[in-house]
Order: sequence, then structure tokens, then C-alpha cells
Amino acid sequence: YYNEETVIYYNGEFIKAVDARANLYSQSLHYGNGVFEGIRAYNTSEGTKIFKSYEHYKRLKYGAEVMNIQLDYSEEQLTQITYELLERNGLKDAYIRPLVTTGSDMSLLTSKETNLVIQCWEWGKYMGDKLLKVKTSSFQRPNPKSCFVEAKVTGHYTNSILSTNEAKNNGYDEALLLDMNGNVAECSGANVFMQKDGKLYTPPRGYIMAGITRATVIDLCKEEGISVEEKHFTLEELKNADACFFTGTAAEVVGLQSLDNYQFPLAWEKTYGQKLMKIYKDEVLGLRQKRKAS
Ligand code: PMP
Repeated sequence: YYNEETVIYYNGEFIKAVDARANLYSQSLHYGNGVFEGIRAYNTSEGTKIFKSYEHYKRLKYGAEVMNIQLDYSEEQLTQITYELLERNGLKDAYIRPLVTTGSDMSLLTSKETNLVIQCWEWGKYMGDKLLKVKTSSFQRPNPKSCFVEAKVTGHYTNSILSTNEAKNNGYDEALLLDMNGNVAECSGANVFMQKDGKLYTPPRGYIMAGITRATVIDLCKEEGISVEEKHFTLEELKNADACFFTGTAAEVVGLQSLDNYQFPLAWEKTYGQKLMKIYKDEVLGLRQKRKAS
């Protein structure tokens, strides 16, 4: 993720990652009280473009707000800092990781001291390109009455780590998690869509991360005339689906081969998932907008 030359943004300054000091008394380490984002920048024909920067920083600010973490930056300021950071690192295609940590306070009240760090690195498609073998997790997604499920709080990710460890330790690539009611929720770090009888379905907001890629894919479906509906569905329904795919900033659009060894019957090449994978790539590269303009 970094080397001797890597530059990070840390509390108002651009410094070398190797020169940065972290606080071992931080609440973020002890209690998981921090918020973060995962963003991508793409090398487009019009230069480096951060995809949906405003939406990502808006979600970061929402997370900080619900956790009472002070973050006095606007979405525009954060975007500008990020462009400068990419330039200072000479990165055109990059994954960007903003992280807001809290200071030393061992009470269970949010510390008034906060730190903003932004890191970036080159990162290929997080889950790769091959079709995934997925396992239903024995862990549920967090209960929305116990936390703010749409906030990217660092501590929430122990649930994602538990489920990913379980899946990988059992020989699978990724985990699928159900919500507290037993409906399909999402993957450990991506949203889920299923295809059945020529239509796409994805769980509605409420028990899931409101993925920015998920929203983008829904918009793209509307533009392309692909029918998509936000609706709860069960594991049984998913195991009767024709095809399935995950969406996320890091994962982009990636197909599933199987779920608990149930093989999705429709060949990936014939699915909407595969079509959307290509369309999404064009969208992040600004090619669709360019075509529309000409
Ligand atoms: N679900 C979870 C649990 C996630 O961590 C992520 C990644 N932020 C997503 C879904 C996908 O969200 P996005 O498309 O905004 O990256």
C-alpha cells in the first residue's frame, strides 16, 4: 500500500506515509470509533477523474455526524485535497481511502480530537474478474437498531472480517450475509443483485450499506431499459435465481458462479451482470457521457 515515497494527507499537511505518527491511545483503535470511505479514481481520456467523489465524501460526513465525530471539511474541499494527493503520488488509476480517527479518550463518549488521513494506492479489481464461489455466512449483518448501518464506521467491519474469514477458511471466495429477518442483505463489502426471469432484484435500503455502485447500477439499468426492482428476497429465492452479481467501489461489478455450491444456471456471458460490468466500466471512464454529448 505504501513505500518510502508515498505521500498521505494528514491533518492539513501532505507528508510521507513513513513519517506519520499514529496515536496508540486513539478511540478508533480501542473501540472502533472512526469512519472511512473507499473511492476510486480512473484514468480517463480527459485526465484522472474521481468517480462520484461528492457522494463518497457526503457518506463520510454522514458517518462522522451520526458518530459525533467532528469533521470540518466540505465535500468540495475533500475532493480538491484528494486530487492534489493523487497528483503528488503520480497516480492516475487509484483506490482512495479517507479515514477519520478519534483522539485519546477512554470514556465511551466521542473524543473531541479528530484526525483526517487520506491515503491512496494502486489497486486492481478487489475480488478479481473470475466468477465467485460464495458461501452464506453464519453471521448476520448488523441490526439497524444497534448501529447506523449506512455509516462506514470502522468498528462495523469486524462483522465483514468474521464472515470473510469464515468463507475463505471453508474454501470459498466471499461471504453472503442475511439481515436480522433472514432476508438476503449483502456481501461483506459489496451489494448483491439477482437476475430472475429477465429481471433484476436488489434488497432495498434499511439493512444494508447504501452502496454508491449499487445506485449507479440501478441508474444504468434505467438508462439501458433493464428492469430492476428493490425488494426483499430470501436465500431460497436467490438459490432459484438465474444469475447473481455483486457491486462495490473496490469490487466494481463481479459475477457469482455459485452460492453454497448451487451453480447459477445462466451462462455469465448471457447475464445482465456481465452487460452491466462493461457499461459500468464505460461509465467510470466517462465514455458514456462523452457518447451522449456527441
Ligand atoms: N456493502 C458493504 C458492507 C460495503 O462495505 C460496501 C463498500 N463501501 C458496499 C456494500 C458497496 O458500497 P459502494 O458501492 O459505495 O462501494
